Amino acid sequence: MTDESKTYTLLPEQEFRLEVDFASTAIVQLKSGTAEIFGAELAPATIYSFSGQKVAIFSWHGCTLEIQGACSVQYVAEETPMHSYLNLHTALAQQRTAATASQGSGPVVLVLGPTDAGKSSLSKILLNYAVRQQHHPIFVNLDPAEGSIAMPGTLSAAPMLHLVDPVDEFSAIGLDKTGEMAAPLCFHYGFAASGDNPKLFRLLITKLASAVHARLKHDTASRQAGLIIDTGGTIDPNSYDIIKECVDVFNVTAIVILGHERLYSDMNRLYTNSSAISVVKLAKSGGVVNRDKDYLRQAQQRAIKKYFYGSAQCEYSPFSAIAWYQDLKIYRVEDSIAPTSALPLGLDRKVSETQTVPMDPGPILLHSILTVSSLDSTEDESKILESSAIGFVYVSAVNERKSTITVLSPIPGRLPRKYLLLSSFKWMEM
Ligand code: ADP
Repeated sequence: MTDESKTYTLLPEQEFRLEVDFASTAIVQLKSGTAEIFGAELAPATIYSFSGQKVAIFSWHGCTLEIQGACSVQYVAEETPMHSYLNLHTALAQQRTAATASQGSGPVVLVLGPTDAGKSSLSKILLNYAVRQQHHPIFVNLDPAEGSIAMPGTLSAAPMLHLVDPVDEFSAIGLDKTGEMAAPLCFHYGFAASGDNPKLFRLLITKLASAVHARLKHDTASRQAGLIIDTGGTIDPNSYDIIKECVDVFNVTAIVILGHERLYSDMNRLYTNSSAISVVKLAKSGGVVNRDKDYLRQAQQRAIKKYFYGSAQCEYSPFSAIAWYQDLKIYRVEDSIAPTSALPLGLDRKVSETQTVPMDPGPILLHSILTVSSLDSTEDESKILESSAIGFVYVSAVNERKSTITVLSPIPGRLPRKYLLLSSFKWMEM
């Protein structure tokens, strides 16, 4: 551990890598030259403050950085795969230009690879490079573990109106150029991995894809800029069905595989006859860090907190509201972890995975995250899982005597809708 301020000089195409624990803070300033964090350029003499993060500061032309605070790891790396990432971006940019000229559709890129291969980092780089050239692709997040756009346990999509912030990364709600709110499209999944409930996962990617395509129909600029789809480490041959489903429903044009030879070779074989889909292999960066369970849990807790409270750069003030048991309709996904033998006769496991059961409000809800569904009372309640999310609330108190729950919400007033879905994620407000 070191706490004093240090100056590092990066030669062209070198990268400074730092890791900061959750309990520490490190401050980075660009003193001279140019540098970027996952494709987002750093502004000179600006303070970037990191905590609980692992980042790479890359410089194409060389720079001087000042680092202050406690980093658990900090070093300069000479070898990076940034050239190959830039080449991929250049090819995508050409496709966007061609799509603009022909009024067609831009590239749809599916990023695959094991967990901790650098998939999210590559997605950010591709998005940021596109935004820097005035293209605004839609980012689709099919990794429910972290909740990069919205909340852990969701599948979501959002147009990239701005660069991904070097510190705050994606923020849940952005403003577009006209100042209009651009909330992400979001579906409740409720679990951390696609394998936790594959049937529901597949149903939701289909729903998300049709919602994205509906948007693209009317949004020419996004259609021409295309999609970047990040995924959550789906490499097991048993889950290739999920990959195939993604390719089909999103009309993927390029599959990018990071750091996994077998997956690359299998995908190559699967799509060898498809002239519309190219399969590309890219090297995993030596800087990508394996994140243990504890790190991931802390990152999830931070993402939940950020949804309600924002970040140091952009703080929100959430509101508390009381809701009566009688006004709530709360559902949870039928026990997807129940073995088939434990299911009622005649109900096969796959069916139950996409069925919801109503649940009575009570102490079990304390510290839970509830998804507020867009379903309204005129719609069929069995379709709740297929309805998009309009937001999330946190259950901060349950009063059995008064039959009420207290919820924390980013917007003031009563709950905008009464249909709620219970997520498997819990959070302790501290
Ligand atoms: P994946 O999406 O495949 O699970 P990530 O892109 O999230 O992997 O990378 C895993 C971790 O490594 C993240 O914390 C990320 O910030 C970090 N990381 C990625 N690339 C680098 C790099 N070149 N230098 C330092 N840290 C990196």
